[in-house]
Amino acid sequence: MSEHHNPDAEPKKKINWFIILIVLFLLTFGLNLINMHQGSSASFQISYDQFLDLVEAGLVDQVYMNDDQIRIALRDDADVNRVSSILSPASVQNASAREITLPRTVILYTGRVDDPQLVSALRSGKVRIYEEIPEQTSIFSVIASWLVPMAVMYLLYFFIFRMLMKRAGGGEGGGFLGGISGIGKSKAKVYNVEKNTGITFRDVAGQDEAKESLEEMVDYLKNPKKYQNIGARQPKGALLVGPPGTGKTLLAKAVAGEAGVPFYHLTGSEFVEMFVGVGASRVRDLFQTAKKNTPCIIFIDEIDAIGKKRDVQMATNDEREQTLNQLLAEMDGFETNGGIIVLAATNRPEVLDQALLRPGRFDRRIIVEKPDLSGRESILAVHSKKVTLAPDVDLHEIALSTSGASGADLANIVNEGALRAVRMNRTAVSQADLMESVETVFAGKEKKDRVLSPKERQLVAYHEVGHALVSALQKNAQPVQKITIVPRTMGSLGYTMSVPEEERYLLTKEELIAQITMLLGGRAAEIVRFGAETTGAANDIERATDLARKMVTQYGMSDQFGSMGLASTQNQYLDGRNVSTCSEATNAQADEAVRQILARCQRDAEELLRSHSDSLDAIANTLLEKENISGKEFMELLKAS
Ligand code: ADP
Ligand code: MG
Ligand code: ZN
Repeated sequence: MSEHHNPDAEPKKKINWFIILIVLFLLTFGLNLINMHQGSSASFQISYDQFLDLVEAGLVDQVYMNDDQIRIALRDDADVNRVSSILSPASVQNASAREITLPRTVILYTGRVDDPQLVSALRSGKVRIYEEIPEQTSIFSVIASWLVPMAVMYLLYFFIFRMLMKRAGGGEGGGFLGGISGIGKSKAKVYNVEKNTGITFRDVAGQDEAKESLEEMVDYLKNPKKYQNIGARQPKGALLVGPPGTGKTLLAKAVAGEAGVPFYHLTGSEFVEMFVGVGASRVRDLFQTAKKNTPCIIFIDEIDAIGKKRDVQMATNDEREQTLNQLLAEMDGFETNGGIIVLAATNRPEVLDQALLRPGRFDRRIIVEKPDLSGRESILAVHSKKVTLAPDVDLHEIALSTSGASGADLANIVNEGALRAVRMNRTAVSQADLMESVETVFAGKEKKDRVLSPKERQLVAYHEVGHALVSALQKNAQPVQKITIVPRTMGSLGYTMSVPEEERYLLTKEELIAQITMLLGGRAAEIVRFGAETTGAANDIERATDLARKMVTQYGMSDQFGSMGLASTQNQYLDGRNVSTCSEATNAQADEAVRQILARCQRDAEELLRSHSDSLDAIANTLLEKENISGKEFMELLKAS
């Protein structure tokens, strides 16, 4: 259904060029080798006065002169002893020349000195003189010495560019010469086309507000006349904003599916290339293709990759800017064409350029939040339609225990449950499968092969029961659902799951304090029972501190600051990082306020456990024995002890 427009060059052609390249390489190397060989034949330099001595003694037959050298040929009947006496062994520069007994077989040469008397000296010595005309260069060697290196350079250049283009995702299938000149206007397509996504709004559970806003677009795509007759401007684009995995892509596909129009899908980061202009040409190309296929949906995922504010970065990114400008131009341009709706998704709306958000472009912002309780239940229902469920399955319970999960997490949970059912040779997915996969998705798989020493197991058991007991003994805390000391792949050695009875949107100060106390209950149990502090509490401490800091800096729940805000949230759809908005001195005071909250909660937790140390021991021992305790078992043990 989905054809990928990404033409790759045929591999055969590529190999041919590669072979040619190698051959040319060898050729240049070969020529070089030959040259070097010629230079190394046995010849010996003698001094200019030795040469004159040889001439004077009548031993020289011919000389070959060029601009900087005189090569000397001795007479056939030259007396070897006389030659040797002139060229006494010590004077021959090359040591190996001493072994030469017959100088005639050796080429002697000397440097050419500016000597006006030379010719007359040679003439009186009856030496024949040859002036060497520069070596006749064949056409072949001209070609070889000029064209081959040029060709090699050109090919290298060409290949490197091709490689870069490939990596950039745009295979350039074009010809030899078209390769380089064509880069600027690359026609490489980086988008997917789906003629029919086959997804409808029914596949998207929850997100009713988002669906409502998108329904108008569907209606426009289906009945454009209705809108045109009344003179209403077509909605151009909408920005889907929300955390990852909440169904933004799914919603965009559903719009296309509902309207029955083609779906052009691409990702912002794929636009931005290292070559300036490529992204812009891709935008142009995409819109050109889309215009031929109206009505249709263009969906740009991760639009923040191109749509970042243009002035904030120190180093401006020309490529991204051009791409963004092209996108803006295209969106302005299709007023008359109509029939194209551009949807985009991002989880960082705050970084987007204002120009993208003004009316006539992505003027609608559709918030796609993480699902609430009923949303989670309906998402679970949508995804479990595809699997066989056992009668005992209670999706409401699963939804309750997955607070904070995204739609993608929930889809994953159902699938993991189904996989577990298959592993267990069952024909239907049971509640236990789903609960287990909730844990798998949040805490990782069970890691049975991690063997803890008895002492460590004991520490972990008391730590976890500490959490559970502190939770159960406070009236504002959430009920315990499960305690386990089976290690998990994502690093936990055990954990306590507590689940709210209902979805909460507001928390009171007392409930937050109870939550912090519960988080510190693990560490408290270590101290109360063993007088020890372990590294196992690191994550608890991090979360407790985070909560306490939010109470002080954002919720206005500290005695010191009252309702004063000390921090603001950034990137609210990603990590929700908090950035301080107050002075250093105030920050130090805030730290102190946080410390006080934590210290109080820690003390409360320890007190609670000391006054219930019998229950602590009893439940920890049961946990050591059974490894897992359900919430119900836990409450029974607590009542009994
Ligand atoms: P996003 O684009 O927001 O990161 P996706 O749309 O890619 O998230 O969602 C990933 C998957 O999660 C979807 O394919 C779908 O299986 C599941 N999913 C997410 N939200 C929902 C939802 N509201 N209803 C049904 N399934 C959902
Ligand atoms: Mg997505
Ligand atoms: Zn803990």
